[in-house]
Amino acid sequence: MSSPAAAKKVHIATFGCQMNRYDSDRLAELLAAHGYALAEDPASADLIILNTCSVREHAAQKVYSQLGALKSLKRRRPGLIIGVGGCLAQQEGARLLENVPHLDLVFGTDALEEVPALVDEAVRGRRRVHTPRPRRATLARTSVAGPGELKALVTVMQGCDNYCAYCVVPYVRGPERSRPAGEILEEVAARVEAGAREVTLLGQNVNSYRDPAGVDFPELLRRVAAVPGLWRVRFTTSHPKDLSPRLIETMAGEERVMEQLHLPAQAGSDRVLAAMRRGYTREQYLAKVRAFRRAMPQGALGGDIIVGFPGESEEDFAQTMRLLEEVRYDFLFSFKYSDRPHTVARHLKGKLSEEVKARRLQELQVRQRQITLAIHQALEGSVQEVLVEGPAKRGQGLMTGRSRAGRAVNFPGEELVGRLVMVRIEQGRVNSLLGRVVTDTTREV
Ligand code: SF4
Repeated sequence: MSSPAAAKKVHIATFGCQMNRYDSDRLAELLAAHGYALAEDPASADLIILNTCSVREHAAQKVYSQLGALKSLKRRRPGLIIGVGGCLAQQEGARLLENVPHLDLVFGTDALEEVPALVDEAVRGRRRVHTPRPRRATLARTSVAGPGELKALVTVMQGCDNYCAYCVVPYVRGPERSRPAGEILEEVAARVEAGAREVTLLGQNVNSYRDPAGVDFPELLRRVAAVPGLWRVRFTTSHPKDLSPRLIETMAGEERVMEQLHLPAQAGSDRVLAAMRRGYTREQYLAKVRAFRRAMPQGALGGDIIVGFPGESEEDFAQTMRLLEEVRYDFLFSFKYSDRPHTVARHLKGKLSEEVKARRLQELQVRQRQITLAIHQALEGSVQEVLVEGPAKRGQGLMTGRSRAGRAVNFPGEELVGRLVMVRIEQGRVNSLLGRVVTDTTREV
């Protein structure tokens, strides 16, 4: 006989980065143990949680507009509980409850484990805010089971001590904290046991990883790659100033570590890099890029660029455009600068108009698409190892997966999900490669 509690449903909407996706999985697991099954459709849920991002103004606005859209649902079903977690919740705290009268619960980035109890209080009619300040000493034990998916995310460290001038992350995610290596290895092994073949290790700056026993990130990567049954390991994100030759060596030397590096530059001009407080010059950044390309010529290098930082001149921006030509990013995330709470940059003079920022962003993105297309076209005729994930979203009858370098590869085929196959690339497109399977190389687990 099922208990009444088991009939409850939670809908979790996740915004922002992969770390939030990981936290949402953990929330789903905690709430499942509390009698809440996952619901795809918010209209059928008893509890709706928005796991939010505040790293850019646009992301924060999206959360407010989603909350606005939930107002009529709450009016029709007053028993519905609505909660907000993640970075925006940590940043805004009680202000969110004041500004959104139909909201029941606000919880911070270090309060996941408390959420079931907070939901119970909300059900009893008590609106709650719980946003404890993340402390250096604590990193709540996270999931060891997780969903049985082919690709798993595992957080290895959280927080950031860098305080880049534009970034709210150190204020909402707190100081850097690393999980003990043993606990991470246990979690990876459990994920593999549940079906994972690829793991992505997450942290705001994985290069700063150091566990209480002194294990650093290259060593952790080596140990994770040795977990039996695991085929592929990726990680994100690396801060350029902390990217060590040892990490590059480990990546190149471990067959199960994929040749994909996300190395955000943020800008191409020394003047702007200094104002951003990034801790490296353009030339130091390029030296790391060259070291990666030398060690892994087949690898893919990704970046982040912010255009329109306060005071960015046309010449500064031209230097960023030239950086694109020198690095030739395989993939690039690019954004317009926006003021974030607490940050140094919000008080800087020389703010640029939306029009200038939009023009620069467009110019950058157009050029990057051309570069990516040229890189993908140059791969025509090559053979890529692909982990097959499932049917392609767009493309009738095609399957999709990722190459070692993290490129999306589509190809005709079926019943190959969860297998490693070799695909000959026939066409390079901007967002994907199109090819045909030449061999199934699935390894014994
Ligand atoms: S390194 Fe800089 S941009 Fe990255 S999370 Fe830390 S403060 Fe933010």
